[in-house]
Amino acid sequence: MESGKRVSETHIMVLPFHAQGHINPMLQFSKRLASKGIKVTLVIAATSNSQSMHAQTSSINIEIISEELDRRQQEESIEDYLERFRILASQGLTALLEKHNRSNHPAKILIYDSVLPWAQDLAEHLGLDGVPFFTQSCAVSAIYYHFYQGVFNTPLEESTVSMPSMPLLRVDDLPSFINVKSPVDSALLNLVLSQFSNFKKGKWILCNTFDKLEDQVMKWMASQRPLIKTIGPTVPSMYLDKRLEDDKDYGLSLFQQNVDTCITWLDTKGIGSVVYVSFGSLASLGEEQMEELAWGLKRSNSHFMWVVRELEKKKLPDNFIEETSEKGLVVSWCCQLEVLAHKAVGCFMTHCGWNSTLEALSLGVPMIAMPRFSDQTTNAKFVEDVWQVGVRVKADEKGIVKREEIELCISEIMEGERGHEMKRNAARWKELAKEAVNEGGSSDKNLEEFVAELLCSSD
Ligand code: UDP
Repeated sequence: MESGKRVSETHIMVLPFHAQGHINPMLQFSKRLASKGIKVTLVIAATSNSQSMHAQTSSINIEIISEELDRRQQEESIEDYLERFRILASQGLTALLEKHNRSNHPAKILIYDSVLPWAQDLAEHLGLDGVPFFTQSCAVSAIYYHFYQGVFNTPLEESTVSMPSMPLLRVDDLPSFINVKSPVDSALLNLVLSQFSNFKKGKWILCNTFDKLEDQVMKWMASQRPLIKTIGPTVPSMYLDKRLEDDKDYGLSLFQQNVDTCITWLDTKGIGSVVYVSFGSLASLGEEQMEELAWGLKRSNSHFMWVVRELEKKKLPDNFIEETSEKGLVVSWCCQLEVLAHKAVGCFMTHCGWNSTLEALSLGVPMIAMPRFSDQTTNAKFVEDVWQVGVRVKADEKGIVKREEIELCISEIMEGERGHEMKRNAARWKELAKEAVNEGGSSDKNLEEFVAELLCSSD
């Protein structure tokens, strides 16, 4: 992973969208580029936590270009926020590039989050090469691409939809934005489809996945755009291979976390005895769902560690934390990779955000998939049916996953025969993930090729 380190004058700017699930993989990718001898500046478009961000990384530069974009203002529509984001981020980025142009290290390449397609035009305008970085799975990208091209439409005419190199998908397996039910869905659908507005421009496209994980669909995407390349999983190498030293920090956390409490608590628990529960940085549960989940965890035979973000805490049943303190720990944020890598964790109840899914696969942890929205539904389908590393919860007719179902899924994975099989499958994916990013693996080779070309073109 750290092979062939060259010292280069090549300078790359990396621009993620301002969300935890976008910053984490692009930050890790930046560190990998830096480990190959490239100078990298990660451009953060907004932050309320800039102090800790600066403190947390050593191998790359971090620049904050606007303090005003942290979150959508009250009453601001998603479209208005995205437009404000585009304007302020373009201005900030242009000023930053001009500053670097006057220095000894002008930037040559802009790697941008694929949901910010305007960055390609900006890069071209300023004389840089633009390279989009897809933070979702390749299967999800392919589905959006088919939809963008009008290959299928919703509502679906049949109960399933068939696409090349993909299992048959039911409506519930498609990314939720495709089934537009509200103006918010429609704004988000436009955002994800905009990723393809300049799909045929530029040379390279980078995807946070690995070839063996999405073999068929990756080949299909490559038939559309040959220089689409897998570079994932972007999990730091030390989590994939304990022998490797690495910069331990996974991301620039947008939330306050207490790593020590979590790890100290996990240290007191037996091997594989804890269910880790998290719904990522954005998804929120309704009150009824929160209550069912809480009682499901309480009824199960396993310990649990549950991430309930500060804003969600008021939905917990009264006295839940006190009543379950022997059995469980509720935290408002944790270092997820540290937790997933801990030997006490036996399974991960997850919303199936793409980073969480990849992290669990890469660390060999079986999953209970409880998708909420966006691409999570598709990731859950793959977790259960394609990679066979988890079960997907069943909801009732009102869309609520009841306590009995939660208890059942936990016992299936933690105690049942199927759970053993899933653990074996998860261990196999862990090996394949490590193989992909280790020296000579598919993702490492792609990164080497990418870097070699950058060095060549900037000589
Ligand atoms: N994460 C974390 N601590 C937590 C919960 C999540 O560090 O308590 C990280 C997790 O490791 C992942 C990211 O936040 O890298 C969430 O990204 P994902 O794509 O899974 O979900 P999203 O937040 O985008 O819905």
